[in-house]
Amino acid sequence: MVRYVPNIGLEVHCELSTQTKVFCGCPTAAGAPPNTQVCPVCLGFPGALPALNRAVVEYGLRVALALRCQISRPSIFERKGYYYPDLPKNFQISQKRSPLGHSGWVEVSANGDPSPGGLHRVRITDVHIEEDAAKLLHPEDDRDHSLVDFNRSGIPLLEIVSEPDMHSAAQVEAYMNAIRSALLYLGVSEARMEQGQLRFEASISMRPEESAELGTRVEIKNLNSFRAVLGAVRHEIERQTKALQSGERLVQETRLWDDVRQATEPMRTKETAMDYRYFPEPDLVPLVVDDEWIARVRAGLPEMAEERGRRLVREYGFDEKEAAVLTSDKSAADAVETAIKERGVPAEYAKNMMIGPGFRWRRLASAAGTPESAATATTGTKTSLVWVGSPADEAKAIHDLYRLQSQGQLSGTAARALYPEILKTGESADDLVKERGTQIGDQDQLGAAVDEVIAENAEAAENFRKGKEAALKFLVGQVMRKTKGRANPQMVNEMVRGRLAGGKA
Ligand code: ZN
Ligand code: MN
Repeated sequence: MVRYVPNIGLEVHCELSTQTKVFCGCPTAAGAPPNTQVCPVCLGFPGALPALNRAVVEYGLRVALALRCQISRPSIFERKGYYYPDLPKNFQISQKRSPLGHSGWVEVSANGDPSPGGLHRVRITDVHIEEDAAKLLHPEDDRDHSLVDFNRSGIPLLEIVSEPDMHSAAQVEAYMNAIRSALLYLGVSEARMEQGQLRFEASISMRPEESAELGTRVEIKNLNSFRAVLGAVRHEIERQTKALQSGERLVQETRLWDDVRQATEPMRTKETAMDYRYFPEPDLVPLVVDDEWIARVRAGLPEMAEERGRRLVREYGFDEKEAAVLTSDKSAADAVETAIKERGVPAEYAKNMMIGPGFRWRRLASAAGTPESAATATTGTKTSLVWVGSPADEAKAIHDLYRLQSQGQLSGTAARALYPEILKTGESADDLVKERGTQIGDQDQLGAAVDEVIAENAEAAENFRKGKEAALKFLVGQVMRKTKGRANPQMVNEMVRGRLAGGKA
């Protein structure tokens, strides 16, 4: 049977975090009542003239240069024509033939693993500026009408288009992480998926392994999370491979991802670029970015994840893989470095606290979509308070735990258990310890817990008596659980050992 290799390309739409919109002075802040952040320009009134926001160009340049793009000079704005109720002008101002940046590249892990080594290059076709459309709302209680909120109309977007250089879902995931991390390091977007600040379109084709020519291309729209992209990519690889192996011919088409069915379905046959009738926007002059501007932005580019990872290995002796994990999340790396540099926490302690409990919390938060549902996922109970702290606050939390642990008020287990609690509740470590009590150092109290655990786990106790060391670990773990991490593990260890060895009370 012929083996097929996927070629996957991604378009990433990212909402820039400028104060005002791209072609007018309306504010971009989220959460305002509908249609209160609007003007004739972003409402699309005839004759209203757009004026380009300089900050949008500055942000776009940061991204384009960080992704090693060439800068088009001039860069041209064009009208992309289509008709839809969220777009009263009947065209979106975008860029096609002369995008702000083009011909760049990023390197991502070939197997999706964050450790360096085995890097795979993904070419960036272009990075271009465009405006967002309005938001359509379909009220549940009124099926006959739809509503339009123009607050989002004219919000600046940066579209980052890749070549179809990815060959697996793992590479796609690594690429999305790299782009999101770059946006956060560059400070140009909050990149919050649950707020629709990152949206994706994927193109997927399959080619026979020995052929250089790409197969029939299928585009997938409606991808609003990493999970949706990965689901769609896996589904399409499987669907197309099956079809090809059974001799079917694939059609070039656009498909929609259905989050509920976890499948793609046909949407319409592909329009060509001609259908959008791109033509130069006559109301905007060509954008000329001079050498000085480019040089200034280039010089001001921050240290990015990879470079930072290398520095953390050098400065603190972290291993490469841990440094890569840590720097993959800017807020995590910021918190750890602040804890070390400004609060004197030992590097190993800060790093371990983050890589274990800190990242477990982050994974839950991103899987659940919102911090609030993450709080629910962690404990099974609803918590109304969620962590909204900065890396400086998180550094303080790490420092507090370190101090309490050094003073013997907390065991390492309890400190690790408390960390996500702090993130979830926003309470300080000291307050939480006060509420729940410090480490149990009292022999009698601990002894009672140890006796209970031994009685409840007679088999494990018997196994340890017969010489199975693993059983001891299990029993100590049970005591830690019973005491909610408040026992001193070393004391527990000695007590269990003592009771089971000599039968002493
Ligand atoms: Zn406006
Ligand atoms: Mn676009």
